[in-house]
Amino acid sequence: MSKKVINIYGGGAATIFFLAKMRDQDSYTFNVFTNKSTLGRKFLVAGKGGFNLTNDCPPEQLPPYYLPQAVLQEKLKTYDNKEFVDFLTKAKIPTYTGSSRRIFPKKGMKPIEVLQAFKDYFPAGTNINFDCDFVGFTPKGVRVKGADEERIVEADFHVFALGGASWTITGSKGEWLKAFHEIDVKTHAFQPANCGLVLPSSYADFCNFHQGEAIKNISISYNDQVILGEFNITSTGLEGNAIYPISTLLSRNSREKELETHTVFIDLKPQWTEEKLANKLKFRSDTLSRILKQLKFSKAAISLLKATVPREHWNVEMIGFYLKKLPISFESFRPIEEAISSSGGIDVDEVDDNFELKKRPNTFCIGEMVDWDTRTGGFLLQACYSMAAHLAGYLSKADESE
Ligand SMILES: Cc1cc2nc3c(=O)[nH]c(=O)nc-3n(C[C@H](O)[C@H](O)[C@H](O)COP(=O)(O)OP(=O)(O)OC[C@H]3O[C@@H](n4cnc5c(N)ncnc54)[C@H](O)[C@@H]3O)c2cc1C
Repeated sequence: MSKKVINIYGGGAATIFFLAKMRDQDSYTFNVFTNKSTLGRKFLVAGKGGFNLTNDCPPEQLPPYYLPQAVLQEKLKTYDNKEFVDFLTKAKIPTYTGSSRRIFPKKGMKPIEVLQAFKDYFPAGTNINFDCDFVGFTPKGVRVKGADEERIVEADFHVFALGGASWTITGSKGEWLKAFHEIDVKTHAFQPANCGLVLPSSYADFCNFHQGEAIKNISISYNDQVILGEFNITSTGLEGNAIYPISTLLSRNSREKELETHTVFIDLKPQWTEEKLANKLKFRSDTLSRILKQLKFSKAAISLLKATVPREHWNVEMIGFYLKKLPISFESFRPIEEAISSSGGIDVDEVDDNFELKKRPNTFCIGEMVDWDTRTGGFLLQACYSMAAHLAGYLSKADESE
């Protein structure tokens, strides 16, 4: 019996997970087409930093980390973080859980070794076409372009895992939006997510003076989300673990309304109640800056307050309000090139429960190219895994049922 063919476009994390999950499917032939000369470029970049493969939060708490939840919910339940860790162990990628529940490859295991372990787990005979761009669709096939020429490839199933549009050096350029638009698939322009945020020019002195410093043990709230953590001051604004999740929410919401019109609120003492803070401020008669220093607010935090609080409110009676709820609006995002992920891509309503395009049968989209968002801390790779694992399960069954 002749084998069915699965063509996969893109050679990043979602492709790697998908192939590893298809390991035992010998009734298929797998052809990968990727625009780079090696696999997993962004995966390796992720490995240079923290390399959080997933997050050790209770599995039932995974779905709320994603926006919109519906497209991923069931997949995150079936292929949750525990299942992922079990699979990693099977693929000879031992892990450990670090602080803040992030799950890393075992200490001493290099990113390239993690990638190799996945490759060793690919189905035998997987055929990889490097330096080969997906450029568009024909009525039945897919147009790819190698060094010399463009050709049309056909297959029983086409799996797209072309990624987002940050860190273009890794191959994730997001140029494929146009090709999907041409077949009438709704897409959203890419915007940076999980990125630094730029403050208005009125904060220039604050940024210049304090760049490189961190303000720790704070929380930032935006709409109903509260993120505890810290941020670093850069030459243009703020970045860091409390800023990235907020930037992702802002990225999605600023499609509707300009970024400057959104306000986030910083609590510079989340561990103190308003009452406790009011008691600490009571009966103090020094200058406000000295009072704040006595209460152990850092120089950077005091400067941030000074740059934000209206002059007429700079007094001990009013400052308690601002310490708990400092309103900040940002001017822009840092460039998408620097962002850890991107918001945008294939509209989630264009795919069905198995990530199959409703308008093009046997054509699937997985990974960051679909328009869902989440925060850093292992949640991005977890979603790529849950999507890839679900699709692998679905296509394995599709073959058995015939
Ligand atoms: C600095 C950094 C650190 C990160 N750290 C973490 C982390 O610690 N934990 C975490 O969970 N996530 C992390 N991420 C995010 C994570 O790496 C991505 O979410 C993940 O790689 C997305 O996988 P993907 O397969 O959807 O896309 P990608 O990995 O981006 O892969 C897309 C693939 O498609 C190929 N491609 C694109 N266009 C074409 C085309 N036209 N034709 C052919 N091929 C094409 C690309 O070359 C690439 O191979 C990090 C990202 C960055 C940038």
